[in-house]
Amino acid sequence: MTRPILIQNAVVVADAHTAPLRGGDILVRDGRIAAIGKNLAAPEGAEIIDGTRLIAIPGFVNAHMHSNEAFEQGAYDNLPLEPWLAMSYPPFGFPELSERAHYLRGMLCALESIRSGVTTLQDDLIHPSATPEGLDGTISAYRDVGLRARVTVSMWNAPMDYALPFYEEIVPAELRARIAATPLPTDDALLALFERHYAKWHGQSDGRLGIALGPCAPQRCSPELLQALNRIAAERDLAMHMHVLETKTQAITGQVLFGKTLVRHLHDLGLLTERLTMNHAIWLTEDDIARMGAVGCSVTHNPLSNLKLGSGVCPVRALRLAGVNVAVATDGMATSDTADQVEALRLAAMLHKIESFDTSTWLGAKESFEMSTESGAKSCRIGDIGRLAPEMRADIALLDADHLGFQPLHDPIRQLCFSVNSEAVRDVLIDGAFVMRARRMTRIDESAIRAEIAAEAERFRIEAIPKMAEGAAILRPYIDAIHARATAQALKPGHEVLRVPRIGNFS
Ligand SMILES: [Zn+2]
Repeated sequence: MTRPILIQNAVVVADAHTAPLRGGDILVRDGRIAAIGKNLAAPEGAEIIDGTRLIAIPGFVNAHMHSNEAFEQGAYDNLPLEPWLAMSYPPFGFPELSERAHYLRGMLCALESIRSGVTTLQDDLIHPSATPEGLDGTISAYRDVGLRARVTVSMWNAPMDYALPFYEEIVPAELRARIAATPLPTDDALLALFERHYAKWHGQSDGRLGIALGPCAPQRCSPELLQALNRIAAERDLAMHMHVLETKTQAITGQVLFGKTLVRHLHDLGLLTERLTMNHAIWLTEDDIARMGAVGCSVTHNPLSNLKLGSGVCPVRALRLAGVNVAVATDGMATSDTADQVEALRLAAMLHKIESFDTSTWLGAKESFEMSTESGAKSCRIGDIGRLAPEMRADIALLDADHLGFQPLHDPIRQLCFSVNSEAVRDVLIDGAFVMRARRMTRIDESAIRAEIAAEAERFRIEAIPKMAEGAAILRPYIDAIHARATAQALKPGHEVLRVPRIGNFS
């Protein structure tokens, strides 16, 4: 039993829609919020926190991340998704890391996350060789630092000619044979790996750690695997996270491969449910959006990544109007290239104003904040986080009200979006315990771990990156040709909602 905590006299931002409570107290007991109000009585033995210069907000949920890219921040630029994938996930020369290296890479992501106020991370861990060490190392870092995390085992078992349009026509036979020589994991092997991770980690650390389902994309998985995962999701009420229609090339893939959109493909397989979160969901048709809204599925909106890769802009307003739950996320650390949720929050609050002169369609600070907290929680299928209220888990970020960007304090959510950066996050509590205090991690020897991260990351830069670049160079000309051909194709009618003429011509 830990001591109760009473935060006194803070500005309490309970959620995006409730007016901030100035001079408010928060009582935390047994990992949950016991009460919020003014002049709350201190229980015996409580730790008293002077909140006079603090702003309390619900911790952020970063609903889409690939921590395995953490050693590639700033490694690439001016690459659309498909050529970038060839670089970051090359078919030859992909590095095999020790469990400790996976741990350090996960820890780098965790530190950046917590320092930006993230208390829950949905990590879609991509580990092509699918050995247990990848997930064990990464999730152990989250356990040690105290982060709440849902980790997926990303699954990709479809051959390249299924995943990419025009592959057989453009990629020479000899190279296709060389790529095909690496066996793809079977459905059974992937399901066994999932069960192994689920048995070992799901519900650990008082429920802070969990395993989710992560079929990489509809065109990267066999229909049989997708349906098997869908059954597991239904039986155990698990979240399933999948990349859907991130790029125009993928929209063309749906037309070429299935003769329908990838959303329609998922619908026809029975995968369109409220448990499904589609990452990106940019190249949608109006029919797709209506189908998604009808089941109330989730979408992760990753504006940093989408702009950096030139993927397009998620039609967030149309999705929200249709009833889709949209969560703001950073995406992986080699496409955004950060785990800093405040950056994603800021961009989501600003980006959509460029889409129309009709201000009624704009998203602003409040909606972006809601999508970085409550909507993220819903996407992770965790019911008791995302807001500050009695009975909710005490996942709280305390912001430094003395930050220059908060002078004067007109509106904490707006100023969090527009005026300060993540250095305004001073303390972070998860399950009612401090994991960061005055910007120092409380549960690990941060100096020692940062030195070890720096050494391992530098080894990755020197040893792994050149081998990855060498392996990618073999495939790049053909991937670039596929991208050029797909993006030159006309899409079938219905994609009008995608066009954002004042940003660029994505049609
Ligand atoms: Zn992703």
